[in-house]
Amino acid sequence: MIQGIVADIQRASVHDGPGIRTTVFLKGCPLHCAWCHNPECIEMKPQLMYYPEKCIGCGLCSQGCFSGARVICGKEMSVEEVVREVLFDKDYYEEDGGVTFSGGEPFLQREFLNALIDACKKEGIHCAVETSLIYFDEEIFQKLDLCMADLKIWDNALHKKYTGVENTKIKEHFYRLNEIGIPIIARTPVIPGISQGIGEISAFLKQFDNIKKYELLPYHPLGTAKREALGIKADGFSVPSAAYMKELKKYVFICE
Ligand code: SF4
Ligand code: SF4
Repeated sequence: MIQGIVADIQRASVHDGPGIRTTVFLKGCPLHCAWCHNPECIEMKPQLMYYPEKCIGCGLCSQGCFSGARVICGKEMSVEEVVREVLFDKDYYEEDGGVTFSGGEPFLQREFLNALIDACKKEGIHCAVETSLIYFDEEIFQKLDLCMADLKIWDNALHKKYTGVENTKIKEHFYRLNEIGIPIIARTPVIPGISQGIGEISAFLKQFDNIKKYELLPYHPLGTAKREALGIKADGFSVPSAAYMKELKKYVFICE
């Protein structure tokens, strides 16, 4: 039985690809982006998260917490268990919805991801992944309907500084995905004070026929509470202004 570690399964999601989707967040990521909005997905093991504002002071911690103040993020699940949850939502997917495997970096749990995709495809479900593109797994990419891939920072040294890895392979993987022809939605997070080379990234991506869309994702402080709950210090970033996002809009493109 193939098992993996799942951080969360989010139902009726409208932000992780086209249509209404079920997003399966797999734990584990080899990157350490300074602005990570899913810090609970970096470690590939269950982690305790503590939200003090939810604590009602009942003193029953040793018997399990029912207020949601102490939660364990990360659960071993089998392929069958995950697919059972995904199938609950199948009727809502309509034409363009489906399942998105996200994380973390879903390819880190390669065998689990591969089996999940096989099982979902068998059920006729549209399958997408959200990936940092640090890995290239042709067998899995060939099966996918859509790949949402990031190119976070253009300059290699800055990419390494802020994510922990170089971007040489990531750029190379865009060429290889173009050879396969899988549709891609490419994205760059916009982090004031850190983002660099968005114009270069946009121009680089325009050469590929399989890029359907290039999006800019403004920094979202979604990870702040989760960082605190994990005992990690705050990232200190701020949301980009509407004026700055408007300025960058010229780099965004859609190809139909
Ligand atoms: S069980 Fe939960 S709510 Fe009760 S004291 Fe412990 S953390 Fe607080
Ligand atoms: S690739 Fe995604 S999950 Fe991994 S550290 Fe970066 S933002 Fe977080």
